[in-house]
Amino acid sequence: MTTEVGHHHHNVDPKELTSVEAHLADILDRIRPLPPTQLGISEAEGCVLAEDITARQPLPPFDNSAMDGYALLASDVTGASRDRPVTLRVSGEVAAGDTGAYAVTPGSALRITTGAQMPGGADAVVPIEDTDGGVAQVTIRTAVEPGHAVRFSGGDAREGEVLLPRGTRLGPMQIAVLAASGHARAEVYPRPRVVVVSTGDELIEPGHALRPGKIWDSNSFMLAAAAREAGCLAFRHGPVPDDPLELLPAIEDQLLRGDLLVTSGGVSMGGRHDVVKDTLGRLGTIQFRKIAMQPGMPQGFGTIGEDRTPIFTLPGNPVSAYVSFQVFVLAALGALQGQQDRKLPSVHATVTAPLHSPPGRRSYLRGVLDRVDGTVAPLSGQGSHQVATLGKANALIVVPEWVVHMKEGDDAEVLCLP
Ligand code: AMP
Ligand code: MG
Repeated sequence: MTTEVGHHHHNVDPKELTSVEAHLADILDRIRPLPPTQLGISEAEGCVLAEDITARQPLPPFDNSAMDGYALLASDVTGASRDRPVTLRVSGEVAAGDTGAYAVTPGSALRITTGAQMPGGADAVVPIEDTDGGVAQVTIRTAVEPGHAVRFSGGDAREGEVLLPRGTRLGPMQIAVLAASGHARAEVYPRPRVVVVSTGDELIEPGHALRPGKIWDSNSFMLAAAAREAGCLAFRHGPVPDDPLELLPAIEDQLLRGDLLVTSGGVSMGGRHDVVKDTLGRLGTIQFRKIAMQPGMPQGFGTIGEDRTPIFTLPGNPVSAYVSFQVFVLAALGALQGQQDRKLPSVHATVTAPLHSPPGRRSYLRGVLDRVDGTVAPLSGQGSHQVATLGKANALIVVPEWVVHMKEGDDAEVLCLP
């Protein structure tokens, strides 16, 4: 017997639905990048370059030794070997950081350390391991070609070369490139400030006792964490009750703090209990739609306030809210930082169990991806309220709109969760 997952009975007319792509395109259409700003490289991590970063000087800036050893003329050790070593006079030592003008004359060598400037006259370095390590004179046990163990100026990057193009997200490696090429600051799109507001009369702060009919708020913590994981500064607002008189002021209060707002809950059907849809719908700047996806069908997106701050109103079921974040909000966060196609990485994998998906809707099913085996196991418990399953997943299996069934062994696109 097999357990099939992802089976739901929803009678939605597919013609009423907007495709994931169409909704995403409308979102990206309305998002403008944040104003770029100059930041010091210590502050720039997680930001996105708003300018090309070029090499102001060649990298490395000067010819230098790749090894600890002896700088010399390759022609002075022609034919040298373990059996027929060559002995040269050692005229001194040059260390990394030494700015003195050194020169090597034929028949002599200079002790040199890794990163030290190549002395005039020398064209190669013999590593210390191939010598007797002598101080006044050195016995060399190997022949070398000109250029051996030399790191040439410009060998890493030429002057003027683009090292990091505009649009690059700055992580530790890119910060290293900035510093190594002498940039103390960079013009960047800052980390977006995201404000998360959860709504629902049933919500209680974790740490407080539950009462009958209540649940602990998880969405606001989850969405704030997801925003931080995506490189944003996130602020969480505790649960707002399902009351129009409380909702609008709570959101307006947050406008100054955020470049983007995310609410959860209250958007399903409209009407008295779906306070977000009802209240924000009256503003006329936020569009509520049904998207051809599962979970996450009810979606709202628009702008709010004088500054036309983008706002997402996500459905309240935790899995719906999470999937909506990864499918829509992540792309919008990219756009705020000048990136047009930010999305989760995806791979193809073989599904290890049968699964179901409603016709006309794209399913995102939680699964466990094994990258080594190239398999993905759908988890049981795919209900959009089943937050426990969220804790076990590392991937979302994408089942296309018109695929209603997949069997064991089928190939699927899989979104890799961060
Ligand atoms: P709604 O979208 O408001 O109709 O909520 C749909 C489901 O999600 C209901 O079962 C809510 O109790 C639940 N829910 C809404 N908001 C949250 C939240 N912040 N944390 C956990 N569950 C929530
Ligand atoms: Mg609600």
